[in-house]
Amino acid sequence: MGCRTANGYDINGLGQLKDGRGNICPVTIIMPTLAMEADRDVEKFMKLLDQKIYEAKDMLIERFEYICSQSPQSASFMYENRTMAGYVPEEGIRSALKHGTIVIGQLGLAETLQILIGCDHTEPAGMELAKRIEQLFKDRCAQFKQEYKLNFGVYYTPAENLCFTAMKKFQEKYGIMENISDKEFFTNSIHVPVWKEINPFEKIDIESQLTGYSSAGCITYIELDSAAIHNIDALETFVNYAMDKDIPYFALNLSNDTCLECGYTDEMNENCPVCGSSKIQRLRRVTGYLTGDYNSAFNRGKVQETNMRYKHVNKLSDWKQ
Ligand SMILES: [Zn+2]
Repeated sequence: MGCRTANGYDINGLGQLKDGRGNICPVTIIMPTLAMEADRDVEKFMKLLDQKIYEAKDMLIERFEYICSQSPQSASFMYENRTMAGYVPEEGIRSALKHGTIVIGQLGLAETLQILIGCDHTEPAGMELAKRIEQLFKDRCAQFKQEYKLNFGVYYTPAENLCFTAMKKFQEKYGIMENISDKEFFTNSIHVPVWKEINPFEKIDIESQLTGYSSAGCITYIELDSAAIHNIDALETFVNYAMDKDIPYFALNLSNDTCLECGYTDEMNENCPVCGSSKIQRLRRVTGYLTGDYNSAFNRGKVQETNMRYKHVNKLSDWKQ
């Protein structure tokens, strides 16, 4: 699972220990589809979402049990070398896997809110409903954790492929709807829509109100112009601001393209400004990892999402903290 993965408190004895544990499996709920199935009615949606959270829990338990039925021989290195904490040979691999996290993920909070109330969580009414939705995920995962003695957690899913495939299915069923399905991807988890013209501090202010509901992993990033690479003070200011707002995992996305003909490096969306070459390696942080050329490494939805990302820092004079 993605780089944003986190392990919360282990209910099976290892407490806050992070080493030797991992996320075992995710199930992601595509919330915009539920909002449509609920006839755009908030109360019907909350009921349907609750039902789907229970179904996700059942699916996770089934998958967890199936994974636990494997022989330790299937990954003997992990067990013999204690890379998986807690392994007791006589008890099988469940003895190690029970310390891991099983997660209920989500996709497209922004579009869900648009469908239900006509605005997203960059507006107060949207944020109010967003918190109600996230509280439900949090409460249910806490309840399942006690009930099944397994580490259920709320996961803000990366949905690197699902963002596109889920949208395709949504469009086939519901067509093109303004601000909802007029693009090729659903917005990542609880993120502010990528095209919103806001500054880095506003983005952190909004997303930090929701990241605390997630116990199994989330990320908040800001998109920067490549010139910011040379402004260490600005980068430090962003990191400090995010830490002060308790963002668990914060990222600064900078473009770092290289001309393969002359070696010039900067953000280059067309040809190299020095030698005119079109042979550009576009090193971007599209997801948690640096990717050679995002145009060929990701599906259409993710490429469009990347191209639509607003640069949160491109007008220095607009900064307000
Ligand atoms: Zn060049």
